[in-house]
Amino acid sequence: MTVRIPFDNSYATLPEVFFTRLPPTPVSAPVTLAWNAALAAELGISGTDPNVFAGNTVPDGAAPLAQLYAGHQFGNYNPQLGDGRAVLLGEVIDNNGLRRDIQLKGSGPTPYSRMGDGRAWLGPVLREYVVSEAMHALGVPTTRALAAMATGDPVYREQGGLPGAVLTRIAASHLRVGTFQVFAHRGHIDELRTLTDYAIARHHPQADGPIGLLAAVCAAQAELVAAWMSVGFIHGVMNTDNCTISGETIDYGPCAFMDAYDEARVFSSIDQMGRYAYGNQPRIAVWNMAQLATALIQLFDDKEAAVEQATAIVHAMPGQLQAAWLRRFGAKVGLEDAKATDQPLIEDLLALMQKDGADFTNAFAALGQPGARDQFTDRAAFDEWEALWQSRVGHEATQIMAHANPQIIPRNHPIEAMIEAAVAGDMEPFDRLMKAFAQPYDVAPEYDDLRRPPTAQEIVPATFCGT
Ligand code: AMP
Ligand code: MG
Repeated sequence: MTVRIPFDNSYATLPEVFFTRLPPTPVSAPVTLAWNAALAAELGISGTDPNVFAGNTVPDGAAPLAQLYAGHQFGNYNPQLGDGRAVLLGEVIDNNGLRRDIQLKGSGPTPYSRMGDGRAWLGPVLREYVVSEAMHALGVPTTRALAAMATGDPVYREQGGLPGAVLTRIAASHLRVGTFQVFAHRGHIDELRTLTDYAIARHHPQADGPIGLLAAVCAAQAELVAAWMSVGFIHGVMNTDNCTISGETIDYGPCAFMDAYDEARVFSSIDQMGRYAYGNQPRIAVWNMAQLATALIQLFDDKEAAVEQATAIVHAMPGQLQAAWLRRFGAKVGLEDAKATDQPLIEDLLALMQKDGADFTNAFAALGQPGARDQFTDRAAFDEWEALWQSRVGHEATQIMAHANPQIIPRNHPIEAMIEAAVAGDMEPFDRLMKAFAQPYDVAPEYDDLRRPPTAQEIVPATFCGT
């Protein structure tokens, strides 16, 4: 079926230093694995065509390009990154009047591929599809998944030859902290100014200049990371190239949702220092904003005054994070507009969960239910906490908690099982997960199995980069 995409491209009109124009690299045998019809309708896309979404045909109106960026990876600056395996087809204005990027990921090598093959395999493509759509249903800002196509070509990874796939990713934009860093570090101030003006107009039109942009991005990132914390999400690679200006979650590589609560939980196999551990995410978000500040300061002649203003904004971010965290976790225990005096109540519960290794999702979902104490091993301690909690919350608590505590989150073990089935040609588990995670706060009884934490044998210790 012919596909019509109402492109309205803006990034492609910027100077050529921002990207390299190139089409996606064709594949052998495109087959549709997944198609998000609701999102297509939202984007004004009619029809579908595996040849377009696998990269074999460039659709009318597209202006395909790979974006240039840099970034701090695990704290070390890498001056040359960029879309190494992705091509931006272009942008559309969606039903709500919002500009959205349409990008193919896994679409072949680009000038920014370094040693990589430019490809992705089925596992990470379907994991990103399921997890990003679940994040959206959970109410967390995120890039979306429009399509997943099998390529018919093998992709070689540590595990050997694997089925190749291409994901169509939709984003408010793909501007990252690293997009600013690359021009700031090169001393290309005119380009940095063009980019800053573009980012303000596209994402934060109310922002007053570079300092206003910094403040807006800090606010968006503070909200984002508090939202992650509230659903037990660990991003896994909070490098500055994976930190968006829009405040959307991007790059579902070694990400995962926690089962047993643990502040120090890490999933990324290469994160040996725990830099991106669950409980470290707020600190890293601030660190990333300090890098954005460092880049934006290059725009000012009076550096001293700019440093002072930018520093004040970055220093205000822990307070913003804390406020967003308190609002989110307050709601998780049934409090609307939780106050600082409510914080010990929340922290005491988290301390109990940490001590007992309680399941993060299930323990919160059980609050106020008859079986709540069964989520803990130290039941006497929980009973004591529960009595105090009941004396603090009002009758509206159940209602508040119902919207703040998901019943199910995409746990690693059903995702791994889904990938195994998909590799064997069975997409039924994928379709089932997509149906279940569309309503994570109100789960049909047929999906009750997805509430179950992993058994000892099912625990997925790490997910992998180099996907
Ligand atoms: P990520 O860890 O996914 O954020 O990727 C970091 C950088 O490596 C980005 O510039 C990616 O485009 C690039 N990259 C990751 N995987 C590949 C691949 N298979 N081929 C080429 N480039 C890649
Ligand atoms: Mg990335």
